[in-house]
Amino acid sequence: MRVKRLYCNKDLYGHTYIRKGMSILKPTKLTFINGKPTLVSYDKIVRKDNDKAYNFHRNVEENDYVKFYHSTEWKHKRQEILERDYGLCQRCGMDAELVDHIIPSKDDWIDRLNNDNLQSLCRGCHKIKTKREWMKHHKGLERYMNINIVCGLPASGKTTYVKQHMTEHDLIYDYDELMQALTGLPLHQTNYDVHDYVSLFFDQMLRKLKAEQTFNNVWIIKTLPDKRIDTLLSNYHRINHIVIMTDPNVCEERLRERKERISFQKILNGFKTADFTGYRVVKNG
Ligand SMILES: [Zn+2]
Repeated sequence: MRVKRLYCNKDLYGHTYIRKGMSILKPTKLTFINGKPTLVSYDKIVRKDNDKAYNFHRNVEENDYVKFYHSTEWKHKRQEILERDYGLCQRCGMDAELVDHIIPSKDDWIDRLNNDNLQSLCRGCHKIKTKREWMKHHKGLERYMNINIVCGLPASGKTTYVKQHMTEHDLIYDYDELMQALTGLPLHQTNYDVHDYVSLFFDQMLRKLKAEQTFNNVWIIKTLPDKRIDTLLSNYHRINHIVIMTDPNVCEERLRERKERISFQKILNGFKTADFTGYRVVKNG
């Protein structure tokens, strides 16, 4: 049996050549010449075609952007959003100076006139946002953010579950805890006037989360499933659905021990009839 021997040589720049007998095989690369995939020597410069195609597409696209931002349609929309946001920057609350696409129009052309994708911003906040987007695009800072919805009866152990699974850079929305913080009332007691504020924060949070990759995890702690979360975020993030199943008697006992007076039976009835399709069941206690 004859064995062909291969030799390797390195050139000045450290590129490896494979020497087969006397002839030298240079490394190759795949490129497009007149639209056809072709193997060429790695150091051959074939850029004209690609550059032309690239420039053509870029010009067309940028033309569309310029046209869009000058359109009456956009000018009306811009005014509408500024009025909706009371002329306030949605990040810092100062006077808004412009209307921003939460998901940049270059990434999501279809949603360029969608109210849910628009927000009023001041110039300072817009600059910070644009810079962060640039970093994500150019430095690959984008991380995978999980949205975890954790449902369960009061005192079923939802908060404990989250505390056991959270990381150091998470966002936790806990309706009951927020209510307690904003009212000073004991846990699970609701002041219906404050409810609007806690919900308002929730709506704003969902809107902002669409374009966000900031956190490792977002935890949304609620008694019952909320379809709105899926409707608003499923196109943008992976959503995990978790329901903590604890014996209702155990929950009721815990609530009694904590001297929490809530209409447990009413909540339990709602819980029993709720649709937990697609939820992962975590048994507890
Ligand atoms: Zn601002």
